[in-house]
Amino acid sequence: MAARYRWRGVPAALVAALLAVGLAMLVPAQGYILNIAMQAATYAIAVVGLVVVLGYCGQISIAQAAFFGLGAYGVALGTVDYGLNFFTALAIAVAIAGVLGLILGLGSLRLGGHYLAMVTISFQQILTVVLTNWIGFTHGPDGVRGIPRPTLFGLSFEGGHAYLALCLVAMVAATLGVWRLKSSRLGRAMQAVRDNELAAGTSGIDVFATKVGSFGLSAVFGSLGGGLFSGGFHYISPDQFSFAESIVMLTMALLGGVQNPFGALIGTGLLVILPEWLRFLRQVYLAVYGAAVILIMVFLPDGLWGFVAERLRRRVRAPAQDVAPLPLLAQRGEPGADAVLQVQGLAKHFGGLKALDGVDLAVRRGTVHALIGPNGSGKSTFINVITGLYRPTAGRIGFAGRDITALPPHRRNRAGLARTYQNIRIFRGMSVLENVMVGAERAGNDVANDPAAAVERALAALDFVGLGDEAARLVGTLSYGHQRYVEIARALAGSPEMLLLDEPAAGLNMTEKQELGGLLRRLKGHGLTILIIDHDMALVEQVADHITVLNFGRRIADGAPQVVLQHPDVIAAYLGEPQRHEAA
Ligand code: ADP
Ligand code: MG
Repeated sequence: MAARYRWRGVPAALVAALLAVGLAMLVPAQGYILNIAMQAATYAIAVVGLVVVLGYCGQISIAQAAFFGLGAYGVALGTVDYGLNFFTALAIAVAIAGVLGLILGLGSLRLGGHYLAMVTISFQQILTVVLTNWIGFTHGPDGVRGIPRPTLFGLSFEGGHAYLALCLVAMVAATLGVWRLKSSRLGRAMQAVRDNELAAGTSGIDVFATKVGSFGLSAVFGSLGGGLFSGGFHYISPDQFSFAESIVMLTMALLGGVQNPFGALIGTGLLVILPEWLRFLRQVYLAVYGAAVILIMVFLPDGLWGFVAERLRRRVRAPAQDVAPLPLLAQRGEPGADAVLQVQGLAKHFGGLKALDGVDLAVRRGTVHALIGPNGSGKSTFINVITGLYRPTAGRIGFAGRDITALPPHRRNRAGLARTYQNIRIFRGMSVLENVMVGAERAGNDVANDPAAAVERALAALDFVGLGDEAARLVGTLSYGHQRYVEIARALAGSPEMLLLDEPAAGLNMTEKQELGGLLRRLKGHGLTILIIDHDMALVEQVADHITVLNFGRRIADGAPQVVLQHPDVIAAYLGEPQRHEAA
């Protein structure tokens, strides 16, 4: 996984950089074509930044031109008004933009979708207003003139070729960096947040920090592109960094394919060059240009690169390697001795509805504890409150000797609490292996910071659930039953202390249900503590050591299976009130 990419022994990044320099030399040293190339290269850096925030993390940002402008103005004002060295000014500008990006990202804490888009639009508009009206500082609508190009270690970038080469090398570095990010731990965390925020959180990812980080990174790339743009044209003005430009950058990313930085390059290249090519059409050129963009987006919803990647993915092979058995199931303490999970007086009210009403429950170490009850009795709500998706109205949750009642979901996962969902929550844009790696890489897990070991752990977890051969497939192409197993493998890969399974048998056929029974028995054999919700009494009787029954949010029975399943209240709850007397 962490293999360095090489071409005939030479690092691929160096080859790409040399190609970029070579490409720069092919462009005329001044004039129209040089300008187009410079614009494409600097824009591409910003658009590659959008891949991070939008493509990887799934957060809409309509402010990339604002960050581009921050970089551009930072360099312009820093060099022209404050006499700073070009690179010093660039570094300061990038740092400021990065911090503002983080602050903008903070806006994503509670806001999603449309609201987030509006926050970024507002930010963009505010910047335009400041650039235009704070004349004393920004020079106002006249813009800044005479922006110099840099010199580094006696090497002057004043000439067109040298400066374009600098921009292209920066573009290549940004592209490769973002490409590598995709298959890194942080990149996987971002994609997990994009695909399923709840599951990301309960798999140990700090969703908020990940989103904020993606905004910060994206702002850094945006401002880097802008800073280089500034030196490229010697002159900038506020209208170059307007809302319309942010839309253009967004379109570039979507057109090329926002999932991949190479797509961003293609999209940027096309949208910079296309209007120039179409200029001969005079008045109608904007219409033709717009129609071309719409057609491509309608017919290739994943962008041009997405279209190519779709065809390449089929050739991806599963990493063939022998895998050590899953080590998660090391015993932690005497089975049955103490309660791993201890819940007291747990209540969750939704308005007037008491989904949980003063539930006490203790799950002993190394046992399989079944939570059963009719539909709507509060079982899923119980797991959601335990794993931190819902705040309890009242009550206390103790786990492995600590009070976790107030912890956010990712911290509970890191404390050893893993779960699956009644309605499968997997990371649909990712491969089977990547899904499970997210689990293996939860903070605090022994393999979290070692990519090779994390791959091995994930493969071991997949082997354990019988999906070792499907590792390279896109997770959505698996059968429903196998998707459930991926969810279980993801939970197991994080070496949890306790596993919460919400109706794992739902939607499985008979064969799959039997397989699941076998899987549960193997897990139990290894001493993992399990809380399972299920309707299938045959399955529950097979595996459960202890059963708790809920009805209308209240605990109506608790104890050994033989006793609980004979309890008159339980029979009544399952069969309905009229049968109560017959049964009793
Ligand atoms: P079970 O998993 O036992 O079938 P749930 O825990 O899903 O039941 O639901 C218990 C009750 O709480 C149901 O009446 C359900 O409609 C209600 N409920 C669950 N989640 C919510 C929510 N987010 N908002 C409002 N009501 C909810
Ligand atoms: Mg449920």
